[in-house]
Amino acid sequence: ATSVTAASVTAPAAEPGPLPVLGCDVRVPLASGGEVPYAALDYAASAPALQRVWDDVAAYAPYYGSVHRGAGHLSQLSTDLFETSRADVARFLGCRPGDQVVFTRSTTDSLNLLAAVLPADCRVFVFETEHHAALLPWRGAQVTCLDAPRSPERAVEILERALADRAPYGPALVCVTGASNVTGELWPVRELAAAAHAHGARVVLDAAQLAPHHPVDIAALDVDWVALSGHKLYAPFGAGVLAGRADWLRDAEPYLAGGGASRSVTRRPDGTVDVDWHTDAARHEAGSPNVIGAYALASACRALTEAGFETLVAREQRLLAALRAGLAEVPEVGVLSLFGPDAPRVGVLSFVVEGWDAGEFAAALSAEYGIGVRDGLFCAHPLVRVLLGGEPGECAGAGERAVRVSFGVGTPDEHVERFLRAVRELAVRPE
Ligand code: PLP
Repeated sequence: ATSVTAASVTAPAAEPGPLPVLGCDVRVPLASGGEVPYAALDYAASAPALQRVWDDVAAYAPYYGSVHRGAGHLSQLSTDLFETSRADVARFLGCRPGDQVVFTRSTTDSLNLLAAVLPADCRVFVFETEHHAALLPWRGAQVTCLDAPRSPERAVEILERALADRAPYGPALVCVTGASNVTGELWPVRELAAAAHAHGARVVLDAAQLAPHHPVDIAALDVDWVALSGHKLYAPFGAGVLAGRADWLRDAEPYLAGGGASRSVTRRPDGTVDVDWHTDAARHEAGSPNVIGAYALASACRALTEAGFETLVAREQRLLAALRAGLAEVPEVGVLSLFGPDAPRVGVLSFVVEGWDAGEFAAALSAEYGIGVRDGLFCAHPLVRVLLGGEPGECAGAGERAVRVSFGVGTPDEHVERFLRAVRELAVRPE
């Protein structure tokens, strides 16, 4: 029996509803027969597109043309739209004067771009708890992989100690996450950035999971770069961003070499080729850019701002509180946490269920309730292993993998209610 009812999930009267997203009307078949509207509770992998983003892209599509590569009207319009999108994203992220916004394919691409422009002999510090996209790109650098901290304060201490130990001083980069893609827990970004800067190191924030749930202000957080993905920020079409300080980007060889990155190319008499590369964001955007992706991303930024991001966050936190309270009443469920059960989080949460394999549990949620979640190690293998092998009793039924439920600005209350009902029913019926 549980005291969590639909009433405790339901919104207060004054609260705005979810933002309209695509996919809410999709009906999926159930194993028992019949069908239900799909409940997308896997926002952390890819969030549904905002209806507004879709509408903006559809309105632009007839005017689509090449960017920076044509004198015609549509080409000019597309070029303007691409550059305006850059400015919109810069505004959304609170960029400082002089910061660059480079359009990439994704967070993975953004962090690989930063890895490619590190100065010689750069040291990189990264916690083992990071998503692989933040853990793995630093191949040319000397990487220090830091222990998983068990509290935000401990994270700062571990970083400070590692930075203090580095000698002799040279360039250094600290890569931190804003919100974990496994636990949803918020990391002490401002404090970690201050510690890094105090030791002369720079900071890149992996905001892939933070940005969809929380305003990110690069200046207020005082980080040097921010990386994020459009498809997690309610904007499909394959664009991401690396935004931040220009100097390392300007001083390095282009990430990709080709048209658009070069200002002028000359064949010298000795048969070699001389290139004058751009010094702005175009330096790392060779090839025809993804204007629809950039426009979609900017459209999502505008939509979140206009809807009042703080209000959206408050609504998400209400759903999260209901979710946590509901799960806490199911004794078979163990919620994974690095910083403790009450640590602040975004709408991302992983758990294990006693007597259930995570994959089977996720499959049952889909087949029997029309709910889409993810199971596995979530591209964060070291973190999930730490979490599953954590303190005794912390996660009942710890197996090899976990189930992750995640949601955001488009999630109706009913999806969380249905999910809690499903967990309650399945948990007492081992596979
Ligand atoms: N960082 C975090 C925290 C993530 O959750 C993800 C994706 O799940 C990434 C980076 C990589 O994002 P993408 O797959 O869009 O490159």
